[in-house]
Amino acid sequence: LRVNDYPIIPFIEGDGTGPEIWQAAQSVFDAAVSKVSGGCRQVIWKELLAGEKAFKQTGEWLPEQTLTAIKEYLVAIKGPLMTPIGGGFRSLNVTMRQVLDLYVCLRPVRYFQGVPSPLKHPERTDMVIFRENTEDIYAGIEFANGTPEVQKLLDFLKDELDVTKIRFPESSSLAIKPVSQEGTHRLVKAAIDYALLEKKPSVTLVHKGNIMKYTEGGFKNWGYDIAEKDYGNQVFTWRQYEAIKSDKGVDAAEAALKEAEQTGRLIINDVIADNFLQQILLRPENFSVVATLNLNGDYISDALAAQVGGIGIAPGANINYDTGHAIFEATHGTAPDIAGLNKANPSSVILSGAMMFDYLGWQDVSQLIVEALEQTIQDKTVTSDFATQMAEAKEVSTTEFAKCVIA
Ligand code: NAD
Repeated sequence: LRVNDYPIIPFIEGDGTGPEIWQAAQSVFDAAVSKVSGGCRQVIWKELLAGEKAFKQTGEWLPEQTLTAIKEYLVAIKGPLMTPIGGGFRSLNVTMRQVLDLYVCLRPVRYFQGVPSPLKHPERTDMVIFRENTEDIYAGIEFANGTPEVQKLLDFLKDELDVTKIRFPESSSLAIKPVSQEGTHRLVKAAIDYALLEKKPSVTLVHKGNIMKYTEGGFKNWGYDIAEKDYGNQVFTWRQYEAIKSDKGVDAAEAALKEAEQTGRLIINDVIADNFLQQILLRPENFSVVATLNLNGDYISDALAAQVGGIGIAPGANINYDTGHAIFEATHGTAPDIAGLNKANPSSVILSGAMMFDYLGWQDVSQLIVEALEQTIQDKTVTSDFATQMAEAKEVSTTEFAKCVIA
């Protein structure tokens, strides 16, 4: 996309620490836009209501007008939202993703020099996660134990399965995990398109296909199918490697892989999720772009975020690459324990904003924001979450941190 010089961008400030981190982030965004354009460009921010603020003002947690406005303006940015208990929602975030069909949860994970990390070499972690956002066990098709629905399903399964071989007590709750060919195609396509555009070396499909053969195994096979059918010589897949190996031997397969690497073809491989979670700690430099299912992606994104300093600094976006709709968001929750204390780290929403400007074609703004944030952290001027783990850090409030980034 490329927006005009005065784009209207809707925002949802969020609950808990949301308003504090949003105000800090907005001041950074305005300063960056003004600086790169010499005052000739300006974002017109348009507030949308969701969460507690919406409920207090309208009696609704997620007003229809909010969804309509995001549909109309295409892009929005948001702080964290609490999940209302008994509000009739599984989660406001999940509802927004489903209504707008935001099928990619995009989570770039890179290390910012100086950020406290549990790893000896956190700078070796540099990945972009494409998490499928609409299917899998998160589709929310779940039945509580003891309900007539579960009884019906159990009766059905009893006819279908030899239940004597597996433990399947009548007290079970049940969930259904849909994984489709179409859902896999659009997610894997988005990951491959991104990897080719950004000249990344590989796309890794992460799955548990060894156990869940038709859902997660389907994801792996369909992922390879689309890579081979739609991208031809632009890619070389691990499945092609295995085929050459069984046909002509390991030397021929190695030679084909070497040639693919030398000619700059994108390597598409796959790793089983449990192995992947240990590999990202041991050899993170082996991975670049990752495409995975919803639940795996949830665990992987936060585990990787922790490797490079935690969710206080991890940005994210939910995107539909076909319609262009995108919601950029802080990846952490509302942090109710520190709400109102002017203590929260606004880096996650600031970096999500940088991703948003990049998406809108304002790479100059995006770059400046990232550089300024990086410099501030390198100067050891940080909020308390980082300060408590850094030697000689200067602890500042949320507001002061934003002022330092702007300076
Ligand atoms: P949380 O992320 O709010 O907090 C976990 C811990 O991390 C807390 O100790 C908190 O103080 C700290 N933390 C989080 N963000 C921080 C920041 N920016 N700076 C410094 N410290 C930070 O997770 P939770 O407590 O499990 O969830 C609280 C609420 O947030 C729940 O209602 C949950 O549903 C919601 N939530 C929303 C989103 C979202 O809107 N995307 C994501 C996760 C959780």
